Amino acid sequence: MAEAILHEHLYPTLKKYFGYDQFRPQQKEIITNVLEGNDTLVIMPTGGGKSICYQLPALLFEGVTLVISPLIALMKDQVDGLNANGIEAEYFNSSQDSLKQQEILDQVAQKKLKLLYVAPESLSALNDILKESYISCIAIDEAHCISSWGHDFRPSYQQLGFLKRSLPQTPIIALTATADKATRQDILEQLNIPNAQQFLSSFDRKNIKLEVRPAENRVKQILDFVEKRREESGIIYCLSRKGTEKLAEKLQHKGIKATAYHAGLSFEDRSKVQEDFIFDKTKVVCATVAFGMGIDKSNVRFVIHYNMPKNIEGYYQEIGRAGRDGLASNALLFHTYADVIQLRRFTEGASNEDLQNAKLDRMKEFAEATDCRRKILLGYFGEYLEENCGNCDVCENPPRFFDGTIYAQKLLSCVARLQNSEPAGIVIDVLRGAQNAAILSKNYQHIKTYGAGKETAWRDWQHYLTQLINQGFCEIAFHRQNALQLTEVAKKVLFEKEKVWLTKPKDLKEQTKKSTAP
Ligand code: ADP
Ligand code: ZN
Repeated sequence: MAEAILHEHLYPTLKKYFGYDQFRPQQKEIITNVLEGNDTLVIMPTGGGKSICYQLPALLFEGVTLVISPLIALMKDQVDGLNANGIEAEYFNSSQDSLKQQEILDQVAQKKLKLLYVAPESLSALNDILKESYISCIAIDEAHCISSWGHDFRPSYQQLGFLKRSLPQTPIIALTATADKATRQDILEQLNIPNAQQFLSSFDRKNIKLEVRPAENRVKQILDFVEKRREESGIIYCLSRKGTEKLAEKLQHKGIKATAYHAGLSFEDRSKVQEDFIFDKTKVVCATVAFGMGIDKSNVRFVIHYNMPKNIEGYYQEIGRAGRDGLASNALLFHTYADVIQLRRFTEGASNEDLQNAKLDRMKEFAEATDCRRKILLGYFGEYLEENCGNCDVCENPPRFFDGTIYAQKLLSCVARLQNSEPAGIVIDVLRGAQNAAILSKNYQHIKTYGAGKETAWRDWQHYLTQLINQGFCEIAFHRQNALQLTEVAKKVLFEKEKVWLTKPKDLKEQTKKSTAP
């Protein structure tokens, strides 16, 4: 589309309906691609401005843009917001009576609607209007829900593949804030849009300071943290409903306007909490992960994770609710092994248990990082930072390194001798010369590195291994029973004498003593 036409239509529409003069990065390119009738995949962080990418084209297309969204609870708000801006929008769901539903279908047939929000479950009721003469564009929000590789799989999303088959000429725009490479591929395949152009925005939210602390005295640490920020809004995520209530109570005792939020509350109560938070009547919401999707509050100054999230996608999405206004904000995560064990318990017996555990391991690696945390976080989404960020606890307070080349060589060569096929636990067992059934049954006691690291404690090996993974020398193959495998760079350590710098575990002395005791 020619630049002149863009200016003629895009900017005035942006100004008239949304009140903005400029596009955010990528928005213009995405919108142009959609208007040209191409399938599009948008990966943009929360707060990046995804909605306009389909709302603005919707205004310029002749028919209606169908917006598929999993969040029935939020549809009304979204539609009200659009209506307030003078945009003809509606939502369609099973809570409406048949009269209302028919009215909406009529509006579509008369081309009176620009946007129609619908949950995937309700699509079948739209059969009469699912025609190319009515539908100009299909937007699929939270598109990661279609993939079981993603972190929020929803079976109802899996039927969406029929859309491209029945409306082959209608452009589809799929949008999500969280999708690693495998998930992106899966989204394209399942939606039948293999040639969709992909727009990957930077995931870097530079204004959010990343920090991880050991979970000793968590409650006290949180009270101290919040007391210093009495005027600021924040969200504290807890694993359990009970946890949210207990913590809110403790904060209230300190005179902080805090409240709990979880799926066990009534719809009215939940709406009230959201509203009070948005209008600053409540400063701190102690919530389960049920809180936050779709909440458009720009001045959230901190997000605290009382417990570790079960994967990096979730963590990233949750901390992304801080600092949407671009001002300095904090993300504080408390880390304890007890949480890891608890999260493991949740995944037990799940059909994708291995995948979930692998994702949990990555979360744990992030929490235990000795390298710039932002590098690790962005690396997870396939984005590489050249320099350390300077805005995370590791950058601000770097750990001290020693020449750990010998440890690295032992560990990496052990992985090589195990042919990149065993998980971390076995590799460490072999290094430590363990004599358990798993080792002996596979005859690993004859491997050359067997026992080569027996003077080093198990936990210390784990600590070193985490760093080697974070430094990119080896990786966990999630889809192959979590086997450890070497990367290209590992060769430099094994064959080219490259030095590796590691940090010592904090209680190294005690541990070595314990482990060498008879
Ligand atoms: P996402 O869906 O990616 O989380 P939203 O679409 O809700 O993000 O947009 C986040 C915020 O940014 C909203 O308040 C929105 O109005 C605002 N926004 C979007 N595009 C622009 C723009 N071009 N200029 C200024 N603000 C914008
Ligand atoms: Zn950093």
